[in-house]
Order: sequence, then structure tokens, then C-alpha cells
Amino acid sequence: YQPIIDAKTEKLVGAEALIRWRHPHRGMLSPDQFIPLAEETGLIAPLGEWVLQKGCQDASAWPENLKISINLSAHQFNRGNLFDVVLCTLVASGLSPARLELEITESALLDKRSEHLQTLRQLRNIGVSIVLDDFGTGYSSATYLTLYPFDKIKIDRSFVSDIEQREDCRAIVSAVMGLAHNLGMVTLAEGVEDAIQLEELRREGCSMVQGYLFGKPMPLREFEKLALQGITA
Ligand code: C2E
Ligand code: CA
Ligand code: CA
Repeated sequence: YQPIIDAKTEKLVGAEALIRWRHPHRGMLSPDQFIPLAEETGLIAPLGEWVLQKGCQDASAWPENLKISINLSAHQFNRGNLFDVVLCTLVASGLSPARLELEITESALLDKRSEHLQTLRQLRNIGVSIVLDDFGTGYSSATYLTLYPFDKIKIDRSFVSDIEQREDCRAIVSAVMGLAHNLGMVTLAEGVEDAIQLEELRREGCSMVQGYLFGKPMPLREFEKLALQGITA
């Protein structure tokens, strides 16, 4: 779990679940080493369901002001039963829907537009938040913002890492903040590694931040310790 922080108060507001595989011979494997294969073979569906169940179960024991953010793959979306899966998981874990956020990338929404739109609306109707992940890396991002009901935009790490050196990255971050604000969406910047980046993002009006500055993805027990303290920085 990686901490998510309120940019203004620097208080902990939640965590993103980022999967790891503790392999018996090869040690700790990062998602890049197995998620693409899981996507290819379709195993991502049961794997993604497990992450959702584990995340909701774990989060149900955290302080109530903390949310849990779960990454979804296109596969899980295309199976057509996502709403039922999420609903069952919420009921089984006892987690309030208002504490669950689902992260999706643009590419996951490429086809079957009306079916996906219906699923997203159903999820939002029960109080689950929808986050557009990796914003800025796709090719038609602005269009997607008007097509789907997102609650939050997650600005990709690539823009944040160059925000100090590159005028163009700063301009894009600034434009995204303005766009999100006018569309009534919350903004989160990922990959925040130093105080200068944080300051710049704050100045632009970014609502939430996540990155090594506040904590790397960590085991549940470690995150629970943070959760009890309530703050990280
Ligand atoms: P993502 O959703 O864009 O997650 C953010 C990635 O940035 C994570 O990599 C995180 O560890 C890394 N990161 C966070 N803060 C910083 C920072 O300050 N500096 C740098 N350099 N990196 C930072 P990770 O954990 O390796 O995950 C990679 C990708 O794997 C994720 O990208 C996500 O697309 C995918 N993934 C992870 N867990 C799941 C899962 O449960 N389901 C699915 N479908 N995909 C997952
Ligand atoms: Ca994510
Ligand atoms: Ca990203």
C-alpha cells in the first residue's frame, strides 16, 4: 500500500494497492514483471478480483477517514460483471462504498463505450469513486473527460518528474488542474519525490499527492502503523 496525502494539510487520506509477487525462487517481483503476462493469459481477472477483495478487507479495518484505491485492468471491465463483483466485495468486506476508489486508464475504456459508461454510472450510484489513471499519457485524454463520469484525475508521474526542469510539463500540469477544476474533478499527482515538486503542485492547486516523498508502496503492517499516526511527512 502506498500512502496518498492531502496536498494542503499533508495528512494521510488513503492508499493505493500496488501488487507484488513474493516468488519462492526469484524473490519479490514487481507488477511490470507479471501483470502483462496475466493480461495476456486472462489470469488478470481472478488476480484483479483477489486484489479488490484483499484491499477492501484490509481497508475495512483502517480508520474511517482513509480510502482504498484499486487498479482495474481492461479485462476486468470487458468481462461484463464488474458491478456485481464490486458490489459483492463491498458487502462481504463491510467496507463503505464511499471509501472505495477504482483506478482505470484510458485504454481500458477504448471499446464498448456505452456498456462501460453504464457500469461506471452504476458504480458511482452506490458511492464508489472512479479515477482516471495515468492522465496525459493517452492520445485523447480531453475527450475522455467529457465522455465518462470521473471523480478524480491522476496526473502521470512523467509530468511530475520534469515539473522543475521543463516549462512544457509545468504548462500541462497547470492546464490539467484548470480543466479538472472546471469539470468539478479532484486532482492527484503521482510520483512526487521532492519538496520542490510538492510546492509547485500545491501552487497549481493540486488536491492530493502520492510518491516516494511520503512513502514507497509498503506491506500492510507498515501502512497500518502510518494510519495510526495519521500523517507521514
Ligand atoms: P500505476 O497505477 O501508475 O502505479 C504507480 C507506480 O508508480 C507504482 O509502480 C508505484 O510504485 C510507482 N511510484 C509511486 N510513487 C513513485 C515515485 O515517487 N517515484 C517513482 N519513480 N515511482 C513511484 P508499481 O508498484 O511498480 O506498479 C506499476 C504498475 O502496475 C501500476 O502503475 C499499475 O498500472 C500496475 N498495477 C499494480 N498493481 C496492480 C493491480 O493490482 N492490478 C492491476 N490491474 N494493475 C496493477
Ligand atoms: Ca494506479
Ligand atoms: Ca502512472
